[in-house]
Amino acid sequence: MKRLAILGSTGSIGQSTLSIVEQFPERYSVAALACGRNLDQAFAQTVRWRPKLISLATEELAGELSTKLKQVGVTGIEVVYGTQGTVACSTLPEADFVVSAIVGVAGLEATHAAILAGKPVGLANKECMVAAGEILTRAARQRNVPILPIDSEHNAVHQCLRVGAHSEVKTIWLTASGGPFRQLPLDQFAAITPEQALKHPTWVMGRRITIDSATMLNKGLEIIEACRLFDVTAAQVRVTVHPQSTVHSLVEYVDGSILAQISVTDMRLPILYALAYPERPASTLTFNLAALSHLDFEPPDFERFPCLRLAFDAAEKGGAHCIALNAADEVAVEAFLDRRIPFTGIPRTIERVLASTPEAHPATIAEVLAADREARETARALLA
Ligand code: MG
Repeated sequence: MKRLAILGSTGSIGQSTLSIVEQFPERYSVAALACGRNLDQAFAQTVRWRPKLISLATEELAGELSTKLKQVGVTGIEVVYGTQGTVACSTLPEADFVVSAIVGVAGLEATHAAILAGKPVGLANKECMVAAGEILTRAARQRNVPILPIDSEHNAVHQCLRVGAHSEVKTIWLTASGGPFRQLPLDQFAAITPEQALKHPTWVMGRRITIDSATMLNKGLEIIEACRLFDVTAAQVRVTVHPQSTVHSLVEYVDGSILAQISVTDMRLPILYALAYPERPASTLTFNLAALSHLDFEPPDFERFPCLRLAFDAAEKGGAHCIALNAADEVAVEAFLDRRIPFTGIPRTIERVLASTPEAHPATIAEVLAADREARETARALLA
């Protein structure tokens, strides 16, 4: 029995994780849940799963949840809050696997603390690897703690890497759907509206990641994530646009073999893989290969998607540049959604923030968070 701490339990990855626990009650149980501000769902999850510990964003919300639980006669559950609460969840002695699915750098400290506590981590939060990948992977190696990627591309790569040695890997190929503007003429990019950008062709996701898919900055973050997770250089990672999103990624070996992973586009599969690794439990997630008629691959257009080039540069420089790429993008995407800047203003903002970012390699999580705040301030000042 694996007892889980789920960070970000009310988000889409958190909910999918709970649906897997529901499906495999003999394999998994819930020890701790860390939520944000969704009180109703936090309450429902607490009543359903009876974790030992639950954390909410603020003291006020934690108080409200305690009151609601008392009203329905649910006792013996500790309710905590804030970053400290999330860390308490990720380091709970009763938990033996941590699912890290809080969006943004908010989950960084708790993820780091889980690794330091020796707990295997299923990582769905790519910002953690982008902002602090050097620190997290070093800590994981020192303590021999596995970090199992839940991001679909990296999960595919992880699967493909199991057949060869690290020294035999030539190139990691990340597939990208290309987003909704893959074929839009370049001169129309400045007029793209938030509504158009929020429509993703294959995945239903949160707002920021959907915009990041439209600019391909999401793939840029994944380039950095791949470099850190799999200990390869930026030159060893390439992107191929694959509109069907059927092949989730590929690994090319030095002998010329290329291995690909194919499955349904359902996040429950990478989550189950991470939870069960190194086993493969039988699931109901099947892919109809007989109905597959063709697979398309094409090189990405760096002129249309300047965020890709910015990400490759940042991946190579590492440290502060990766932090700034992520932070500046989040600020720029917010500004785009508020109609303060055009779609093309997103890469422009990131580029300007990166230009003013010194080459540095923060050594602690506190330094990472400070660099993150600084980059956000720079981005906000540029947009003001
Ligand atoms: Mg992905």
